[in-house]
Amino acid sequence: MWNIPLLTELFPVQIDQKILALPVSNRGYQDRWIWGEEKKGKFTVRTAYHLARRRGLDEHSTVPNPSSTLWNKLWTAQVPEKVKICVWKAASNILPTRSRLSERGIDIDTQSPSCEEEVESPIHTLSDCDHATSFLQVAAILQMQQASSVYDWLVAYSSIHQNSFDTLMMIMWAIWRNRNAKVWENVVKQASEVVPITLGWWEEFKATHSSTRLPRQPSVAHWQRPPTDCQVLVDAVHTGSLDGSELGFLLHDLKDSLLLASSPRLSFVRRNSNRVAHALAQMAIQSRTNVGFSPVPPQSVEELISSECNDP
Ligand SMILES: [Zn+2]
Repeated sequence: MWNIPLLTELFPVQIDQKILALPVSNRGYQDRWIWGEEKKGKFTVRTAYHLARRRGLDEHSTVPNPSSTLWNKLWTAQVPEKVKICVWKAASNILPTRSRLSERGIDIDTQSPSCEEEVESPIHTLSDCDHATSFLQVAAILQMQQASSVYDWLVAYSSIHQNSFDTLMMIMWAIWRNRNAKVWENVVKQASEVVPITLGWWEEFKATHSSTRLPRQPSVAHWQRPPTDCQVLVDAVHTGSLDGSELGFLLHDLKDSLLLASSPRLSFVRRNSNRVAHALAQMAIQSRTNVGFSPVPPQSVEELISSECNDP
């Protein structure tokens, strides 16, 4: 039997009614927690993860999907890779601003180094801070409504023309770079100086990349040896042959990520073309315990990413 006076005291009427509508067993079992995602009712991280992913996807399942529009715009932008990575980090809330470092347990003053007034969150750094506002103004970027995260802020921009979006990405990167120059080198530059240089440099980048802007061709043609496990994985994604296996879980995630890209192509590339994946795999092999890297990758991988992005 439900304890009706207690329910009335604890919950609003609508919730009460929902609870009272639940059938109560008359066999006198002890109450226990049941995890509805598993047949036996036992909680597993694996099913919790799938549930979280499903919910995440459902939340963005309206048409047109603002989330996929945003990621498409971001990854197809005609800007240097390091700019994409910077904006992606900001949108994923992993840009290492002082607030984010503090949340990761690093003992640091969270005040914005630019205005020295507010907490330095990613959205503050790139949109709300006076330092950021001055950049956006000089670049003639219309400031959208205030948002609680860089992701939400960018979604509001996701319907603008690609070229304007690319400009915004360049400016976001310039804001972050200028902020870093102040923090690490004590170099203070004004937006009126930095914005024209950034946009000029971007024009040069576009001019040199427009004629040769073909997708990077992996060196499949040179590959002579029998297929490796990476090749097996790539084949499995294409054929679905591992769907029901342990690896099916990984493949599922991989396919989800691919859905967000505009015209993804998955091919086997040699190890030296993907040092980040190789480094992660090596760490996984050597590690005896489970290690999570959310939200920031390990130092060695971060260094690889930045060196690959800065390679000519
Ligand atoms: Zn500030």
